[in-house]
Formats: sequence, C-alpha cells, structure tokens
Amino acid sequence: MTYICTRTREQVSSAQAILRGLSPAGGLYIKEALPKASPDMLPFPADVSYARRAAAVLRLFFPDLDGDKLDEIAEASYRRFDHPAIAPVTMLDDQTALLELYHGPTLAFKDMALQMLPRLVRLAAQTLGETREIAILTATSGDTGKAALEGFQDVPGTSCTVFYPLDGVSKLQQKQMVTSAGENTHVIAVRGNFDDAQTGVKAIFNDRAFAEKLNERQIVLSSANSINIGRLVPQVVYYFSAWSDLVNSGRLQPGEPLDVCVPTGNFGDILAAWYAKHMGLPLGRLLCASNHNRVLTDFINTGVYDIHRPFHKTISPSMDILISSNLERLLFELVGRDEKTLADLMRRLKADGRYELPEDALTALQKEFAGVSADDSETVETIRQVYRTCGQLVDPHTAVGLCALKKYRETAPARLTLVNATASPFKFSQDVGSAIGLTPGDDALKDAFRLADATRLPLPQAIEKLASAPVRHTAVTEIADMPQAVWQALCP
Ligand SMILES: *Cc1c(COP(=O)(O)O)cnc(C)c1O
Repeated sequence: MTYICTRTREQVSSAQAILRGLSPAGGLYIKEALPKASPDMLPFPADVSYARRAAAVLRLFFPDLDGDKLDEIAEASYRRFDHPAIAPVTMLDDQTALLELYHGPTLAFKDMALQMLPRLVRLAAQTLGETREIAILTATSGDTGKAALEGFQDVPGTSCTVFYPLDGVSKLQQKQMVTSAGENTHVIAVRGNFDDAQTGVKAIFNDRAFAEKLNERQIVLSSANSINIGRLVPQVVYYFSAWSDLVNSGRLQPGEPLDVCVPTGNFGDILAAWYAKHMGLPLGRLLCASNHNRVLTDFINTGVYDIHRPFHKTISPSMDILISSNLERLLFELVGRDEKTLADLMRRLKADGRYELPEDALTALQKEFAGVSADDSETVETIRQVYRTCGQLVDPHTAVGLCALKKYRETAPARLTLVNATASPFKFSQDVGSAIGLTPGDDALKDAFRLADATRLPLPQAIEKLASAPVRHTAVTEIADMPQAVWQALCP
C-alpha cells in the first residue's frame, strides 16, 4: 500500500487513491513516504523532454501502477499544448524567472494537471478492474470546469458533466464551456449562483438511491476536484523541469537554492513545490501570494486560520478562496504526521471556522513559507509596471505573485526567484487591457483581439478558434432539477 489518509491513516493503493479522490473519512490521501528524487533528475539533461521528465516523477509517486502505461500517459498528456517546451521558463529580469504554465488548451495552469488526470483515472479504473463508466460531475465558477471538459473529452470509459451558474461566469468562460467538443462532455447552466450549483452537485453525490439507479446502467460518479492526488503529482513535475532548465542554462548553480513564488488559492500549486523540495530539489523560500482574500497570508504570519472575514470578489477570481483544501496535506506534515491532531484541527475548522497551529508547527511553517498579499489596485499597478519596464504582459493572478514578490524583497535578500505565471493575459483581456490603458468594450473576446493588436503579441490559437466555434451545449436547469439533468445527460 502506497497512500494513507490524513485523518485515519487508512492505507490504500495508488489506484484507489486516484479513483476515490477524497477518503470516505473526509481526509486526503498522501504518499506514505515521500519519494526521493534520483540523481538523473537533478538536473534533468536538457535533451530530456518535458513528457519524459513527467514520466520519471509519475513512476516515483505511483510505483504500484504499470510503469510502461505511466510513460504512455506522460507522452499523451501534453499533445495539445501550444509551446514545444510545455512549461517554458522566461527571464523577467536577472533575479526573476517566469514559469509559464498557461500553454494548455484552456490557457490556464489547471491544464497542467487536468490534461493528465483523466488518463490516470482510466489507468486506476483498469488496475482495479472497474468496468463501469466513470462519470465526472463538477460545479464550476469558471476555469476548472473548462479544464476538466478539455481533459476528459473523448477519454474512453469516462464522461464529464459540468454545471455552471448562468449569470456567474464571464462571457468568455461561458463561451469556452458551451463550445466544448467531445462526445462524452455535457455542459449545463444552472439558474442560481455558484454556491447553489456546488450544493446541488454535493447533494447528487450524497444521494444513495440515485447512485444505485446509475449503477444499474453501469455508471459510477466521481469528481475531478483539486484534492485528488492525481492532480497534485503532475504539478510536481514543472518544478523539477524549471529548476533543470535554469541550471542547464547556467542561470543557477546546482547547489544554489531557488526561491519560488506561487499565486495561491486552494494551496495545490504551492504544495507541489513543497513536495518537490522535500524530494530533494534545492528550493529555498516558498512565497505564498494571495489576493485581497488573504486568509493564507494571515495564517502564515500568525498561525491562526480564520474564515470569519468578508469574501471579496477580485480581478484574480481563481484565488478567491477562503478554505484552501490542499492545506490539509501540509498541516499533516507540520503536526508531525499525527492524524489525531490533524483531525482535531479539521473538526475545529468545520465547527468554529477557525483553528490555531501549535507553536512548533508554526515555527516549522514559517521556516519554509512566507505569506504576502496584494489587493486589486496593486495588482493593476503591477500589470502596468511589468508591461512598461519589461514588455511582458501578465494576467492578474500572475501579477498578484509578482507584486507579493516585490513586497517580500523589501525585507529579504534578493535571490533568483521562480514565479508561476498561471494564466494567459489574453484570458483576462479586459482587466489586463485596462491596466495598460485600453478602454474595455462589452465583449471580452473582441477585447482579446484588440489587446493582441495593441501589444503586437501573438493571440493564443485557443482564443482565435473560440471566435468561430459552434455552440454545442444549450441546456439550462433549475437547481431542483439538477439530478434529472444529470440523468438525461448520462442515460439519454
Ligand atoms: C487555480 C488557479 C490558481 C490557484 O491555484 P491553487 O492550486 O488553487 O492554489 C491561480 N491562478 C489561476 C489562473 C488558477 O486558475
């Protein structure tokens, strides 16, 4: 057995951890012992492709899955990226490297994991002899739903159904979703807000009778959310890859630590950096950047996690999160892998919306992490400045990271820092455009074209195609009718 549950220590195989996502006790699955990087990964030679780098990491995390199949999965997962390096590193200045994680089909970093997860789910199902169709069901406030649709599109033995709030996503995001291709994708608008859609999906997952009805049709429901270990592992890859690129190009000496700055929401992306570091990658400080929803900044600085605070809608919406679900995995490590202490903290979070770290756990947290936040006006100013001084266009999420780094450097020694660029600026054409002086119109897609014209930067193909893509999904449902909508989609 390779994985354990953070709250019960229940042991499961890699395949079970991937197929279940969440443990029945509510905990998350983590590797029983974090694997050690092998010397040929430190660094990966320049001629080792990104896919082969990914295969090496997959084999370390999933030793009980078929290694040849993992290699095939790694080869297949990046075919739809629009950059040959998959996750290229570009220098913003001497001390700042940008890790471009937005070259996948939906132009945001979720593709790095969601182009691979469906293949891992399929392999896990095969490994466990699961013959039923794996029906992914998810509610989305925008980005994740589209990335899941693209990832599961036409993957045999799976389907993907996404609910989105009719008036709760941007026009561009809606267009991205309703034009999704694939015979096994279903996109349904809900008359309600995101919370309504999310609550509706949870109710369907908890409905035993509905599950039994689906089972008779050889269908089993599953989720693709960010706590699945199959989403985390693909994210470990790019830290090894970026570090290798920086060493191979002579920008970094092999023994010199590399700081990492990550715009954070659910804490998945930055946790992957922590994993890479503890596998032996010489990373230094991990800078956790938050927007105005700075629950993580306060947590890192005080040890108190407290969700009793106003929720702010910001121009970096994928980071508008108050409960960072992947933090549980780090907490488990910080409390010395003691599942009882961890379960107690999680109980308090649920009951009181608040918990406080024990003193030694806080010390351990602050030794490795720093937390800094940036509000919307600072984010806009950063987009403007970076464009003016470096000619680089960055999206609002990336700008939160760059602004946090700038503030952090006011008190810390300057070291080479890798900053995750998590979305294409063209995906947020209106906020990015107005930050550099354009006046936004009423159509984000048209504004993406105008932004490309004004900056003379190439418009990503995925946006260009969107302009002429036919609408394939028109279903709309009331909240109460969501189960019927799923049934109609899965059992027409
Ligand atoms: C999801 C997302 C983030 C936050 O990543 P987490 O893994 O949730 O911390 C940051 N930027 C963009 C563009 C995202 O889509």
